[in-house]
Amino acid sequence: MLDDVVVIGAGLIGTGIAYELAKRGAMVTVYDRAEPARAASWAGAGMLAPYSEEVVDPALLALCDASLRAYPAFVDDLRERTGVDAHLRHEGTLHVACDDASAQERGAQCAAFRRNGADASILDRDATLAREPMLGGHVRGAVYVANEAHVDNRRLGRALVAACTDAGVRFERTTEVALECDARRVRGIRTEHGFAATGTVVNAAGAWAGELAGVPAAAHIAVRPVAGEMLALAVPKGFTRGLVWAQHVYLVPRDDGRLLIGATSLERDFDVRVTARGVQSLLDVALRIAPVLGTFALVETWAGLRPASHDGRPYLGRTAIDGYFVAAGHYRNGILLTPVTAQAVAALISGEQPPIELGAFDPQRDAPEAA
Ligand SMILES: Cc1cc2nc3c(=O)[nH]c(=O)nc-3n(C[C@H](O)[C@H](O)[C@H](O)COP(=O)(O)OP(=O)(O)OC[C@H]3O[C@@H](n4cnc5c(N)ncnc54)[C@H](O)[C@@H]3O)c2cc1C
Repeated sequence: MLDDVVVIGAGLIGTGIAYELAKRGAMVTVYDRAEPARAASWAGAGMLAPYSEEVVDPALLALCDASLRAYPAFVDDLRERTGVDAHLRHEGTLHVACDDASAQERGAQCAAFRRNGADASILDRDATLAREPMLGGHVRGAVYVANEAHVDNRRLGRALVAACTDAGVRFERTTEVALECDARRVRGIRTEHGFAATGTVVNAAGAWAGELAGVPAAAHIAVRPVAGEMLALAVPKGFTRGLVWAQHVYLVPRDDGRLLIGATSLERDFDVRVTARGVQSLLDVALRIAPVLGTFALVETWAGLRPASHDGRPYLGRTAIDGYFVAAGHYRNGILLTPVTAQAVAALISGEQPPIELGAFDPQRDAPEAA
């Protein structure tokens, strides 16, 4: 019989774990100081693109691959349960070359993608324009990665919150949460409403996971926020097909007719302002590869905080404190990693064998004795 479980953080990671635990019969309460499924999980671009993100760490790549494979069933289950379709699209990624130098690098770029397991091929100019007719005159060709996808992460968040509620998960809004434990094990949590006893707490607090009050030094994790600014244009529906990348800027289509353009990467603490320079840097690249985009309305700008660890790997699993689990630090791939994280952490808490080996993601790996 599963214990009562408290999850701190109602992003995709926290709600994903809560849903998987509730399906296994646990009584789960999710605490958040803000609206569920906002924060980074709402701000992200929804790319399921580990090769384009240049993930080369074998353990992390295996985790990304497992999650990418788990996505169709994950989204289907949520759609059947809630009626909310997260718009999973397997259209691949086009890495566009805009000048002679980058056109010549396509061979090396394609080989590097293939070494990591990507289904990559080189496209000439005509084939590139046939895939994405909106691209403009400067385009010289592309490398196409077929086995990547994208999902509407805002819809996915809505689906997960609805699925959690349907499965009996409770959501609590609190201004602050502190872990309460003795030297060995979790006793519960304390909020402004008082003490709640529980033997199992999961820290899924995203970029704030390293700041959780009451965590003993032995179980501390170091997560830092890396801000990302994005914007959206209103384009005709179906104007673009898949993901398009050039010079560290990406374009991501949405079924509702928005074209997302992202993202900057800024180490500036917990600051989620959208700056004029950030918007300019994104539009500079986007309008160079597709000048026609300059004619469409700019309908939205926003920023979010990627939760980064020191080695690029998330922290997943048990800590030195019995009953205190961590699922945080997913950095640029937290949307991609939601299904595998949810399933693996819920399995671990339930005493089942996780679907993938989690040793490389041990939250204790930074502790002096681990080194
Ligand atoms: C601009 C941008 C683009 C991105 N693009 C992609 C992409 O294309 N593909 C991809 O896979 N990933 C992408 N990411 C990364 C991805 O969004 C994150 O890795 C993922 O959303 C992290 O999810 P999370 O649930 O851990 O954190 P969050 O979604 O940030 O949720 C954490 C929650 O914890 C709550 N919280 C924090 N502290 C406390 C506390 N003390 N008490 C109560 N509640 C607390 C917060 O309010 C928040 O709701 C992007 C991120 C950004 C910013």
